[in-house]
Amino acid sequence: MSEVMVEVRGVHKSFGPLEVLRGVDLQVRTGEVTVVLGPSGSGKSTLLRTINHLEKVNRGWISIDGELIGYRRSGNRLYELKERDVLRQRTHIGFVFQDFNLFPHLTVAENLIEAPVAALRRPRKEALASAARLLERVGLADKAGAYPRQLSGGQQQRVAIARALALEPKVLLFDEPTSALDPELVGEVLDVIKDLARTGTTMIVVTHEIGFAREVADTVVFMDGGVVVEQGPPAAVLDAPRHERTRAFLSKVL
Ligand code: ADP
Ligand code: MG
Repeated sequence: MSEVMVEVRGVHKSFGPLEVLRGVDLQVRTGEVTVVLGPSGSGKSTLLRTINHLEKVNRGWISIDGELIGYRRSGNRLYELKERDVLRQRTHIGFVFQDFNLFPHLTVAENLIEAPVAALRRPRKEALASAARLLERVGLADKAGAYPRQLSGGQQQRVAIARALALEPKVLLFDEPTSALDPELVGEVLDVIKDLARTGTTMIVVTHEIGFAREVADTVVFMDGGVVVEQGPPAAVLDAPRHERTRAFLSKVL
C-alpha cells in the first residue's frame, strides 16, 4: 500500500456553466482521517463524488492507492477506463450517504452481502459470516434479519457503514453521515466512525460536527467556492484559522 491513499490534483468540475470545483488539490495519507468542512454549495459532495468517479472531472486527476480513478495514463495523456474497470475501482471505495440508501426490500444481512456476492463473487456463506462480524462491530449483531424500516435512523446508518466495510475498501467516504439524524442518534454513528479511525481506516468525512473534527481528524480541510481555502491539523484550522472565510464559517457553526 502506498503512503498516500488518495491524491486529488487540480480537479475542475462544471455542471453546464456552473464551475463547482475550481482546482482542488488534496492528499490523504493511508490510515488518516480527513474532515472536510465548508458552507452548503461549496462543492463538498461533488468532490466526494468525483473521488468515487460518480462524476467525471473536466480537468485534473484523482488516484487511489497509486491507481488513477476513471483514467489511465499514457505518456502525458489520460485515457478513460471502460465502465467495467470503473466498477472494479469503485469496489475499493466505500461511500456512506446522508440518507443511508439501504435497499428497503432486503434485510440487514442481505444488504451487507449484496455487493460482496454480486460484485466480488464471494460465496454467500462466507459473505454472511463476514456480515455477522461487521454487524457485531457496529453494535447490531441482533438485527441481521430486520428490514431497514424497522430500524432507527442511527441504526440504519450503522448498517450502511457496515455495508460499506463489507467490500474491505481502501478508503471510506462519508457525506454528512449524521445530518439526517435526530440529535440523540448522532453520537452512536460518530462513535462507530471514531472506532474505525482508531483501527487505522482511511477516511474522508464531510460533516458539520466540529467536535468530531477536533477529536478524530488528522487533517481538517475547509472548502469554499469550489477550492480548498485552508487545511491543516484541527488545532490550526479550527482554533487559529488563517483565512477570513474560514473564520467567518466557523463563527457560524461553533
Ligand atoms: P455541498 O455538498 O458543499 O453543499 P455540492 O457539491 O452538493 O455542494 O454542490 C455544489 C454546487 O454544485 C451547488 O451549487 C449545486 O447546486 C451544484 N450541483 C451539484 N450537483 C449538480 C448536478 N448534478 N447538476 C447541476 N448542478 C449541480
Ligand atoms: Mg453536500
